[in-house]
Amino acid sequence: MSLAIEVPLAWLGAGSLTHDAAVVCEGGRVTFAGSRSGRPEADEVLQLDGFLMPGVADRHVHIRFSDPGAVLLGGVTAVRDLGWVPEEILALANASELPSFTGPLIRAAGPMLTAPGGYPANADWAPPGLGLELAGAQDAAAAVDDLADRGAAAIKVALNAEHGPTPSDAVLATIVESAHRRELPVTAHTQGRGQAERAVGAGVDEFAHTPWTERLSDDLLAAAARTARIVSTLDIHSFGEVTPELKTACDNLARFRAAGGTVVYGTDLGNGSIPPGIHVREALLLHEIVRMTPEEVLVAMTAGPIAAGGPADLVVLGSDPLIRLEALGDVRAVVRSGRLVSG
Ligand SMILES: [Zn+2]
Repeated sequence: MSLAIEVPLAWLGAGSLTHDAAVVCEGGRVTFAGSRSGRPEADEVLQLDGFLMPGVADRHVHIRFSDPGAVLLGGVTAVRDLGWVPEEILALANASELPSFTGPLIRAAGPMLTAPGGYPANADWAPPGLGLELAGAQDAAAAVDDLADRGAAAIKVALNAEHGPTPSDAVLATIVESAHRRELPVTAHTQGRGQAERAVGAGVDEFAHTPWTERLSDDLLAAAARTARIVSTLDIHSFGEVTPELKTACDNLARFRAAGGTVVYGTDLGNGSIPPGIHVREALLLHEIVRMTPEEVLVAMTAGPIAAGGPADLVVLGSDPLIRLEALGDVRAVVRSGRLVSG
C-alpha cells in the first residue's frame, strides 16, 4: 500500500526547496521525493495545501514526563530520551517501533551515570533508578556494557558539580572508552565550573545541553567543535524571559558555531513548561539570538533529508518556515512511518 502526498511547496533538505512537490511512501520508507510531474503511481494520493518538511527530531526529552501522542501530533516524529529508569524507557523505545504505538519513534539512553550521591540520584524530581551511581571504573565498564546489551542508543553521564559529587576522571575515561568500544556516543550534562572542559578532555561526543553556568573560552569551544556536538535546550533557562543563564548559553553556542561546531535541536521536554511537539521558541532562539538562518535551524531540527530509502516521517505546516519560523507552530498534518496520523 503506497501513499503519495502532493503539496505546493516542500523542503526536502538543505538547499532543496521544491515547488509542486510529491513524496511517495511505502512500508514506512520514502520511495520517491521530488517534483510532482515525476511522481510514480501510488495506491492513494493525498493533496495537502501547505509546506512539507521532514518530521522534527528532538534530541533531548524525558518522554515519561510528557504525552507521546501529543508530541507526535505536534510534529515531532522522533525523540531521544536522555534520562529515565532503564527498565521502563528501553521497553517503551522497543514498543515505539511498532505500528500500534501512538507517538514518535523513541530512542533512549536509559539512566544517567553519576557518582555515589551525585546528581540526579539526589534530585527530588528524579524517580529511583534514573541516576545510576558508579562506585568505580569497573562498575562503569559493566554499566555501559549492560546498557549496550539492552539497546541503549547513547550513554548519558552527569557532570553536575553544583549538585553533589561527579564521577572521577578515571571513571569518566572508562565510561567514554567502554561506550566507544560498543559504538555508542557519550552525551554529557555539564554544570559548574570546569565541567565542560572535563567533558571535552575525556572525549565525550555530545553536550546534552548548551553549557550555561560559565562563559567558555574560544579555545575550549574550538576544541569542543572538533569532537562534539551540542544539543541546544536553550529555552529551559528562561521559558520566554531573558536570564543571565540564557545569555551565557547563547553566547557559548554562537561561538561554538563560529568555530565550526554542530548544533542539534533539543528541548529537554519534561523540564518545566516545555510543550509537547515542536517548540517554536527554541527554534526562534536559535535564529534570533544564536543567528542561525531559518534553513540552518531546520537542518538542526531534522534527522536528514526526505529521500528515497529514508524514513517516511513528514510534517506539513500551514506556511513556509523559511520565511517566518513561527510557521513551525502551525502543524497541519503528520506522517510517521508512512502513515498519516493527523490532518
Ligand atoms: Zn534532560
